[in-house]
Amino acid sequence: MPSEIDWIEKAASVRLPARHLVGGDWVDPLADDAFDVISPRDGSLLKRVSHGDAHDVDRAVASARAAFNDRRWSGMRPAARGAVLRRWAELVQEHAEDLALTISLEMGKPVREAKNVELRAVANCLRWYGEIADKRPDESPAAGDDVLALITREPAGVVAAVVPWNFPLTMTAWKLGPSLVAGNSVVLKPAEQTPFSALKLAELGLEAGLPAGVLNVVPGRGDVVGQALGRHMDVDVVTFTGSPAVGRAFLRYSGESNGKRVWPELGGKSASVILPGADIEKAARASAAGSFYNQGQMCSASSRVVVHRDIADEVLHFARLQAREMAPADPLLHDAPSGALVSEQHLQRVLGYVRTAVEEGAELLEGSTGRHSVDGHPNGSYVAPTVLGGVKPGMTIEQEEVFGPVLSVITVDSEEEAIRVANGTQYGLAASVWTRDLSAATRVSRRMQAGIVWVNCFEEGDMTVPFGGVKGSGFGRDKSAHAIDKFTDLKTIWMEVEP
Ligand code: NDP
Repeated sequence: MPSEIDWIEKAASVRLPARHLVGGDWVDPLADDAFDVISPRDGSLLKRVSHGDAHDVDRAVASARAAFNDRRWSGMRPAARGAVLRRWAELVQEHAEDLALTISLEMGKPVREAKNVELRAVANCLRWYGEIADKRPDESPAAGDDVLALITREPAGVVAAVVPWNFPLTMTAWKLGPSLVAGNSVVLKPAEQTPFSALKLAELGLEAGLPAGVLNVVPGRGDVVGQALGRHMDVDVVTFTGSPAVGRAFLRYSGESNGKRVWPELGGKSASVILPGADIEKAARASAAGSFYNQGQMCSASSRVVVHRDIADEVLHFARLQAREMAPADPLLHDAPSGALVSEQHLQRVLGYVRTAVEEGAELLEGSTGRHSVDGHPNGSYVAPTVLGGVKPGMTIEQEEVFGPVLSVITVDSEEEAIRVANGTQYGLAASVWTRDLSAATRVSRRMQAGIVWVNCFEEGDMTVPFGGVKGSGFGRDKSAHAIDKFTDLKTIWMEVEP
């Protein structure tokens, strides 16, 4: 049996690249500004990183535009573009340990999950788009004997990808795979907390054969670099995952600049509807785990359980067991059930929500209103999985996305009430329905206002199906062949055929 990696020892010498990628070169930013990247695992400084500004964005967009205009990538055969993406996927797998360690240090998730879940998803995504590259035929409709009509899909041009820190490389791959395979050039802005993993992914992209200028990376602040991309007159498409407020800001930037396409994929407040007759232990444990996974920092987290009164006690029992089994530990330990929240600031925000919930009348059944202590890391950002009972529709905790390991349990008396409560927030990303009654499963899932509905399962899905929401969760879709359409324009070519 291979010996286990000593992640703590490896962490001492992990490489943290910080220069920006522009035009295929690793460059210092033009801006004179820097920020500390702190590891939430223990509160230590990982590295000071230089911020970009609007001038850095101009330089990166110009490089992306030049690469697009001379067709060094868009002019390649689709199969050749696909081969580069597939090679990139192989390199991600080869470097999975280093990338996983980098992610774990940056944002606190267990290194085991970073490697086995996140990096696998990244490689899978790049490979999948690599494989589909030459399998999307254009159309030639039967318009008549005297004409030849062609409908082609053209790459949109320069894409700005602005991504969050919760699944830093998965979100990035979900943006880069479809936009690059379509022939676009990209400027990527990673979240402030996770620049190193993004820069390492880009290094591997260059090694795989992405031509210079096709992928550019500008770390920096959202309101500076993100906004400059959103307002840039030479960016054609913005693809964004993050909070509703920033998603709406991007729509505004677009309206106030060149009317670029914006694809917002925003947060959620997903409900898990558990009906009598369901497999209660499976439903309760999966819903709780779906609320605590990734320290609850998941847009699709099942943060609300909506349960029929007849089975509420049993559901609470299993949800509480699940919470205890997922107590946080040092994310570099092999058996850490969960890790740290992304930052001290975020920890304070999450605990603030728990305190407000208790003030508004919820019952704190598991967890705490204070920091969870992890041996040896008093300055780490750890929060215990929290279960709140007695939550009523309309409470702050029931309405707002917490983005932390906090599960609200809401009791209802009928299927109709369950549907009303589940749909009663501004969000519409995902929902799950737990029942053995096929008709109830069909009725309820049809009426869920959500982009994704799981029946008797949670977080199922693969690259073949889209991921995204409705209502306040935005309207962008990641994954699947549909995502490629976001980054292309339809072109009609109409030719006269002489008799
Ligand atoms: P944000 O929406 O603030 O950040 C996401 C990305 O947008 C980051 O790269 C960020 O940069 C950038 N950004 C921030 N402000 C602006 C701006 N004014 N203009 C342009 N770009 C901007 O999410 P956060 O990471 O700060 O988390 C806040 C909340 O968002 C969470 O608590 C959660 O509710 C939600 N969220 C949802 C996610 C999802 O997967 N749906 C993922 C992450 C967060 P910077 O790093 O500098 O902030």
